[in-house]
Formats: sequence, structure tokens, C-alpha cells
Amino acid sequence: MPVRATKRGAERTPLASSHDVLVCGASFAGLAVARELAGSGADVLVVDRYEIGERQTSACAAPTEWLEALGLQDAIRQTFSDLVIHRPGNGDRGPKTYRWSLPWTFSTFDYPQLCQLLAEQGDFTFETAKVERRVDAAPGGDVVVETDRGELRAPLVVDALGWRRVLSRGRKAIQPPDARLSRGLEVHPKDPTAPEKDLELWLDPKYVTPGYSWSFPARDEVRVGVGSFDPKIHVKDPTVELAGDLGVATDGYQGNWIPHRLRKATEDGVFFVGDSAGHCLPTTAEGIRTALYFGIACGRELRRVVDGTQSREQALSRYGSFSDEHKWAFDWLWRVQTIVSGVNKLPLMDTALDLMDRDSFVRWAFTHYLNIAPPTFARAGTRATDVKPWVAPPAGAPRALTA
Ligand SMILES: Cc1cc2nc3c(=O)[nH]c(=O)nc-3n(C[C@H](O)[C@H](O)[C@H](O)COP(=O)(O)OP(=O)(O)OC[C@H]3O[C@@H](n4cnc5c(N)ncnc54)[C@H](O)[C@@H]3O)c2cc1C
Repeated sequence: MPVRATKRGAERTPLASSHDVLVCGASFAGLAVARELAGSGADVLVVDRYEIGERQTSACAAPTEWLEALGLQDAIRQTFSDLVIHRPGNGDRGPKTYRWSLPWTFSTFDYPQLCQLLAEQGDFTFETAKVERRVDAAPGGDVVVETDRGELRAPLVVDALGWRRVLSRGRKAIQPPDARLSRGLEVHPKDPTAPEKDLELWLDPKYVTPGYSWSFPARDEVRVGVGSFDPKIHVKDPTVELAGDLGVATDGYQGNWIPHRLRKATEDGVFFVGDSAGHCLPTTAEGIRTALYFGIACGRELRRVVDGTQSREQALSRYGSFSDEHKWAFDWLWRVQTIVSGVNKLPLMDTALDLMDRDSFVRWAFTHYLNIAPPTFARAGTRATDVKPWVAPPAGAPRALTA
């Protein structure tokens, strides 16, 4: 169990105030928004129900170049240039393991440290408060947010609260198990052999048919879990089974719902970023990179409002369009997710993996995949629309390997 640092009892004083920008949620998306406002002179309040970095929300693996582009490399625990995929035997065919050499590397990182590093790059006030809902707009156009410590208001309000999309008025539609959500659960046992281990995935119906299972080593621990694209399928038993098969303890459970369809990124004057906007990529359930990416995009638009170079309405429209421009990629990956769910049990899945098992294909596919939200966007550009594609180094050239 994480140590609970959140203010309790008498320390939890009433909170009712007005700010230039209110960012609800202090994980990847919210901290990325706040970072872009550093030095703008804006009075920025960030709220979260927990202290920053207190509750890990994922297996914490992201493209290394993204972490480096944001100056977060000190949080890296282990770096991988290969992805290992396991398939069980099928009919006459025995089990098979694929090893794909990626054109870029993935790194696992320490969640509290990464959040702390990201927060240090910001320039904001932080308070712990549970966000309850949005209430009607105040005179003057401010958005009013009700929390368990009082009402907060600001003209610029960001919902970076994760899949619940708390500040939406249409919340019923996004509640599980009927909503378009996947579910993921993992354990985080200590593992002294982690540094010798690979980044591994299992496309094995023994654990889950519509989904996949993983083992992500992180220097002194390993994050082992199962994700189901079908919200009705529970993943506790298969997580225990996978941990047993790998010979690791079932310590430190951590799980959550994962949105797998893009949602509107703006609604009634509120900006939605990260999982609240469905910015987690379908098929892979990779949502950290995209939370950072759309967080930066949103923060850059807000900054132009603070600078007086655009209105709030223009920022809403530009950020909303920026998010919508990525719909094709999210739709495409959602189709792949649907196909994987349908064929995972069939020999067709083996044929597809055999066809993909070529260096040229892996380089091509993973370069396009990274360019849905490229790390170049974090390094340069002042406008949300400034997206320069990432270019793969020549085959065989060294890749970013920080750790
Ligand atoms: C088991 C699992 C493993 C995963 N592994 C990976 C991975 O390795 N790599 C990857 O890229 N993606 C992974 N994901 C997906 C990834 O976790 C999410 O896409 C990502 O965390 C989204 O970031 P976010 O900032 O939008 O939301 P979150 O990280 O969910 O943060 C939301 C924040 O809002 C706060 N909050 C929520 N409700 C309230 C409230 N009412 N009041 C106040 N505060 C509130 C929370 O405390 C939290 O700090 C995984 C998901 C799961 C479930």
C-alpha cells in the first residue's frame, strides 16, 4: 500500500478561490499542461485528490525519446530496444516467440520521481482536493468546479482527471461496464533479476482473448499484468496466473479502466486532456505519451490566452481541432484492436504475426506509430499545430539508450 500523504482531518481546510487557470488532475496530462504555463505569469492552481506522484496509475513505460525531450530521464529505470512477443501453440504449430528490434526504445520509469520532475518544471500552486463536478458557469464566464473543500473557479479549466471525465455533463455514457473502456490490472513485485529481463507481451488466449498480457521490468521490480479490451471480462485471475507462470509474487496490485475511443477534447468551455479525452491509444493502451502530448498542446493554447494573443473560445476551438485531427489514428488502432479481439484464438493471428515478423515492417510500423504523437513535438514548436514527424535513424544505427 502506498503511504498516504494526502491531507486529512483538521489539515483539510476549506478551499474556495479564483485563479487564471485551474488544472484538475496532477498526473501525466495535468502536469504537462501546467508545465507549458511556467513563467507565463498566470496564477495556476493544480488540484488532485492525492499528493503529486502518490498513486501510480500505470506500468509506466514510455518511449525514451519522449522522456528525454521533457528532461525526465532521471526517472528512467530500464530501457529496451527489443519487444518480445509470445504466442502459444496452435494445432500442429508449437509455441513461438518473436523478438522485434524497434527503431526507437521504450523505458520503464519511476512514477513518483517522474511526476516530481515534471511538477518542478511548472510554476503553480498545488492543493489536494477531490473534484466532485462542474457547476453552472459564474457571471463573467468563469467555470465553477465543486470540490470536497469548496468551489474553485477560473476562466480556463482543464479536466485531466482520467477516464471518469468528471467535469463532463454527459458522464453516464462513460461509466463501466457499458462504456467504451478496456480494463487493466497488474502486480509490482520486487525482482532482483529484472535488469536481465526483456519487455515482454503475451498474445495468449489462456490469459485473455480480447487483449494482451505483459511483463515490464523496472530495475528492481517487475510490472506484470493483463489488459482486456472487453470491460466485462475480469482480469484478476489471469493476472495471478501469469504471475504464477513467471514465478513472481502477486505484490502491489494496481489497476484501472482505460478509455479506448477518442472523446471530445472540449465541452462547455472545459478542456479535456489525457484519458478524460480518450487520448489513450487503442490496441496498445499506451496513454502516457499521448497524455503528455495533448497536455503540451493544450498548455500551449492556454498560454496564448494568458499572453492575450487569443481568446478562450479560440483556444477551445484550436485545441479541439488539434485533438480531432488525430481521430483517424485512434479509429485505425481501434479497428486493429477489434480485429485482434476477434482473431487472437485463431491460426490467422499466427499468420499475421509471421507476416509482420520482418525488420522492414517493424521499422515502418513503429515509426508511423510513434508519429501519432512524436517526441519532436515536445522539443520544439510553440503552437499546437507544430508537429514535425520523428525520423527513424538508419537501420543498425544506435538508438536512444539512456539507461
Ligand atoms: C494497469 C495499467 C497499466 C498501464 N500501463 C501503461 C504503460 O506502461 N504505458 C502507457 O503509456 N500507458 C499505460 N497505461 C495507460 C495510462 O495509465 C493512462 O493512459 C495514463 O495514466 C493517462 O494519464 P492521465 O494523466 O490522463 O490520467 P491518470 O494518470 O489516470 O491521472 C488522473 C489523475 O487525476 C486524479 N483524480 C482522478 N479523479 C479525481 C477526482 N475526482 N478529484 C481529484 N483528483 C482526481 C488521480 O488521482 C490522478 O492523479 C496503463 C493503464 C493501466 C490501467
